[in-house]
Amino acid sequence: MSASPEAPAAGAETPPTGAGPEGRSVRRAVEAPSTSPDPGGLYGRLKAYEGRSAANEGVGKDLVNEPMIRHWCEAMGDTNPAYRGPDAIAPPTMLQAWTMGGLSGHSDRSGAHDELFALLDEAGFTSVVATDCEQEYVRELRPGDRITYDSVIETVSERKTTKLGTGHFITTRMDVRANGKLVGRHRFRILKYAPARRTPQGRRPRPVVNRDNAGFWDGVAAHKLLIQRCTGCGELRFPWLPGCNGCGAAEWDTVEASGAGTVFSYVVMHHPRFPGFTVPEGTAAGDTDPDGDGSGPYAVGLIELAEGVRMISNVVGVPYDKVRIGMPVRLEFLRVDEELELPVFRGGEGG
Ligand SMILES: [Zn+2]
Repeated sequence: MSASPEAPAAGAETPPTGAGPEGRSVRRAVEAPSTSPDPGGLYGRLKAYEGRSAANEGVGKDLVNEPMIRHWCEAMGDTNPAYRGPDAIAPPTMLQAWTMGGLSGHSDRSGAHDELFALLDEAGFTSVVATDCEQEYVRELRPGDRITYDSVIETVSERKTTKLGTGHFITTRMDVRANGKLVGRHRFRILKYAPARRTPQGRRPRPVVNRDNAGFWDGVAAHKLLIQRCTGCGELRFPWLPGCNGCGAAEWDTVEASGAGTVFSYVVMHHPRFPGFTVPEGTAAGDTDPDGDGSGPYAVGLIELAEGVRMISNVVGVPYDKVRIGMPVRLEFLRVDEELELPVFRGGEGG
């Protein structure tokens, strides 16, 4: 590759620095009048990591291979014939899959990446959330391709305040190669932040209510479980999203769920224990709390509603070890504390 890191590559987009079309001059203008442009010179130190390596000469743990392609397609429900047979290619969106370290992780991560995270941790930006990723595809991957990659810290944003809290966006760019030639790029952006509001000790965390999902929580307050319906194609969707995955339309209305459902799948939460997730008194039959400390174990179900969409919630009214796939459940509203009410599903009746 001959492109210099300074040159805006084709397809490169503006990181969420708030810099407008005027670019860097805007950033300076913002910094000057601010009351705390760069507390402790932190931003300057973070910025010094731009362009430094986040992972060096990584090697994919497997060659591009048919079993992983098949598993991916099954998990995604992708039946495209291009991904099967003797001339199969790998789905382009698998790009990152070939670079993943698995449970045992990677040994190729650079010191720079860890240092940057340590700096942010020290400054109080201890939480992390992935915000978006984008991929560019240069050519198709085929079984037998040997994957190598390098990763670079591309940008660190100025301090930003979001609804989650204040922090810095970090964009990492991974260049993926097959047999030594560039096949694609994967850009991954996270927000490393200090949470805006800590849930008081022992309380169940509050949901993040925003303009995309406020209607859902209004429904809960009125003891209605509302499902979004695309007014373009009629597709139901849950959880709430600003647009339709089926047709892309932004317009929607809602239908109220009947409250009937079945357990599509479930997990039992044993550890770690979170006091806020105490099994509520009177909502669970039998021995749901063998340790007597009030914090579980408890069952978390993926509930398939009668309307066809699925949602995650607690299964109550049944001992955690008696929850089963296919068990009929019915919606009810659980008052967790004076501010928080949640839709949960009671199982076991006639099941
Ligand atoms: Zn639609």
